[in-house]
Amino acid sequence: MGIKTGKEYKESLRDNRQLFVDGKLVTDVTEYGPMQGVINTISGVYDQQHDSAYKDILTFASPATGDVVSKTYLEAKTEGELGQLSACYHLRTKTTFGLMGRLTDFMSAFLMDQVCALRAIGKTEAADKAQAIVDNCRENDLQVTHALIDPQTDRSKDDAPNEAVRVVERRDDGVVVSGCRMLSTLAPVANECYIGPYFPRKPGEEDFVLAFQLPMNAPGLSILARQTYDNGQNAFDRPLTTRFDEGDAILVFDNVFVPNERLIVNGDLEAYNGIMQYGAGYTGIQACTRSTMKLRFLTGMATAVARMNQRDKTPRFQAAIGELVGWVNVAEGIRTATLVDTQKRIQAYSEGKKAVVGDGVSEPVFQTASGYAALNFLFPLVNTKAVDVLRLAAGSGSLAPTEADYNRDDVGSMMDRYLVAQGVDSKGRLQLLKLAWDMTGTEFGSRQGLYERLYSGDPERNAMNWFKGPSTNDCESMIASFFSEQ
Ligand SMILES: Cc1cc2nc3c(=O)[nH]c(=O)nc-3n(C[C@H](O)[C@H](O)[C@H](O)COP(=O)(O)OP(=O)(O)OC[C@H]3O[C@@H](n4cnc5c(N)ncnc54)[C@H](O)[C@@H]3O)c2cc1C
Repeated sequence: MGIKTGKEYKESLRDNRQLFVDGKLVTDVTEYGPMQGVINTISGVYDQQHDSAYKDILTFASPATGDVVSKTYLEAKTEGELGQLSACYHLRTKTTFGLMGRLTDFMSAFLMDQVCALRAIGKTEAADKAQAIVDNCRENDLQVTHALIDPQTDRSKDDAPNEAVRVVERRDDGVVVSGCRMLSTLAPVANECYIGPYFPRKPGEEDFVLAFQLPMNAPGLSILARQTYDNGQNAFDRPLTTRFDEGDAILVFDNVFVPNERLIVNGDLEAYNGIMQYGAGYTGIQACTRSTMKLRFLTGMATAVARMNQRDKTPRFQAAIGELVGWVNVAEGIRTATLVDTQKRIQAYSEGKKAVVGDGVSEPVFQTASGYAALNFLFPLVNTKAVDVLRLAAGSGSLAPTEADYNRDDVGSMMDRYLVAQGVDSKGRLQLLKLAWDMTGTEFGSRQGLYERLYSGDPERNAMNWFKGPSTNDCESMIASFFSEQ
């Protein structure tokens, strides 16, 4: 089949799923008003693939069928191919201003990494199943969501029941699973969901050691979505909420059957834990490209607002925005580094090695992944910083009347007199301030802030994992060599 149109994507969502939102059971999400904005935005991304101006960047010929398919599934190995993949991610996230973190691009990358990881550790059967799932997603241009985190349940005692998704019945043709996973961004408007690893599992937890992918309408799957933020305000007052509210949901599995061909990992701890550890790095490229785009957008917004308010004349805002611009440059450097890291890792795997080892002189001995470190630490920090600069640049101005107020002659005339900026009329000023407020102050903006903080999982557990990694001792060894050289 190959690339879909926006219309075909909308039709694909009419699958009789069990979506619960705001007290309603919604089986046809395309008929649910508050989700029309994001559905239209994603449809636009589908249609863009058919635009001759972008087709070469966004698509390629399927290695399996020759059909035109999304380039997010290009299994890039060489510098040139990795550049093409990066350009595709870049254009897709530019279309959505870096605000849709879980557009299916993330899962295209993750699913390709999963195949590489399973091959790298010799799990051929699992890798073949994972590859078949990639092929299906690519040939049918699916939107895929994921839920990797166990639910927040009773943690009062060690033997409290673990309510995460687990096997409840083993059959010749697959397994039956029950339990919960969170949080699944995009779930209300996705075609399929992936359940798999994030934090490692231990011996004794084999029933929870699962990686599988199912359609959103799988019998027994309930999608418990949070309330939408796009609740009827107009696009002028909520320019971001009305387009980019991608949705988040808790997934509950009640005796859901997972057929063998959809079951990638079933109780194999080495395979489960290896998926996160041995990916080639496509996920890092995609995620850093998206995070960099968002940082650019925030920096641009802070600059535009500061200039409008003439705050750009003050040393404080010049320094604050200058620092953000510096971070944009660091972020771009990391994006480039993710391409280099990935190419090296793919090369190492092709030589039967499990890790890239540097020479310790021109490059570090332990070549881990600059991109993943940036996702854990840098991007949460600088995105939070950028939002803060923007918030202060806008100041009290973002607590503003609405477009409907402006459209009243009696109010509009007051605003035209009192609420203007140099070279910007009252309506233009209001428009920019509404954008700033939607990014920093609305429910949408608030969720975006939390999202960036937790984008790559629990920050504390991530930091503890880095502590346990080889670079810690490598850094520490410098102290011994310092004293030994005295
Ligand atoms: C807006 C948003 C969108 C998200 N989208 C996605 C998504 O698409 N896919 C996805 O997989 N995840 C998604 N997440 C989930 C995100 O990855 C988690 O929120 C993140 O892992 C951090 O976890 P938490 O702070 O919510 O804390 P918790 O889940 O409460 O805890 C973090 C970790 O610590 C452990 N923990 C905490 N307290 C205890 C305790 N007392 N005893 C034992 N263990 C404990 C938990 O098991 C967990 O692993 C999203 C989160 C947000 C906010």
